[in-house]
Amino acid sequence: MTYSHGTTPRRGDRGGKGIRIIDRSSSAPRVRMSPLRKAAGLIALISLGITAPAVVASPMPEQLPGSTAGAAPEGSGLPPQQPVAPAPPVATPATPAADGLRPGASGADVKALQRKLRARGIKVPLDGNYGKKTRAGVRILQRKLGLKATGVADAALLKKIGLKIRNVASAPAVLAAPSAPATAKYLKVFPVVGDYSYSDDFGDPRGQGAHQGNDIIGKMGMQLVACVDGTISRLTRSETGLGGIWIWIVDARGNEYYYAHMQTISPELKAGSRVTAGQTVGTMGMTGDARGTIPHLHFEIRPNGGGSINPFTDLRAVDPKK
Ligand SMILES: [Zn+2]
Repeated sequence: MTYSHGTTPRRGDRGGKGIRIIDRSSSAPRVRMSPLRKAAGLIALISLGITAPAVVASPMPEQLPGSTAGAAPEGSGLPPQQPVAPAPPVATPATPAADGLRPGASGADVKALQRKLRARGIKVPLDGNYGKKTRAGVRILQRKLGLKATGVADAALLKKIGLKIRNVASAPAVLAAPSAPATAKYLKVFPVVGDYSYSDDFGDPRGQGAHQGNDIIGKMGMQLVACVDGTISRLTRSETGLGGIWIWIVDARGNEYYYAHMQTISPELKAGSRVTAGQTVGTMGMTGDARGTIPHLHFEIRPNGGGSINPFTDLRAVDPKK
């Protein structure tokens, strides 16, 4: 079944319009755990020297498809048998898009940029180093072309002057073109407070299918807050399904937000409680199928209560540490 941490076991339903059975009121999903695999994942992270960056790669390879070992009775809370599993995949960190050149870069691409500037009568050295003079030259050209004078040869500028970056390897300082910061479509507040890390792990293969959210890794007891103004639609303080201890928040537009593997839920909250964005809703844990792994919040966004979408862009948009 599609992995959804104690929510709705479904497969291949993203974007689907077909019949599906939804039963969130029950603890329908089965508890499956793979502590060894998760421990291996953590070790892999540690061995990579990744301790607490803003974003880490593939932090929670919960389970690969086809692995059925380790299933425990639903809601039993008992540690399952530990399946023997190969080391989890650890994705390489995302490389920035090579669609711009910025100060500090050097190499053939910078030289080509300098040639373009000189061809337009802008005096810059032709040394392949994106220094102060080249930056000033880029600013002049940007003003001439009616672009924002940032001094960074972004994609818009390169396109206007017909320059394609050819050799990315020679330009280590190539970064993504500055663009308008992504705005959150759903979230108002990042759901975790403290020293966390997460990655774009939506859709990663897990035991029950594609991963339906993002895992935000932190420490036991870390503060979790409401990501929107809304209402607690459902919650459980006793471990139920893959999610263990979890809550659902629904906002005024009907969008749903799922917090799983919690350690505790704030005592004043119950189904129907109103919450405001930033309000503490509980603490991070590793309940449900996260037991025996590392503390993390499994977080989902389900627009209109439908299939989950990748929350990563929204998380990044409201991430105060970004
Ligand atoms: Zn997860």
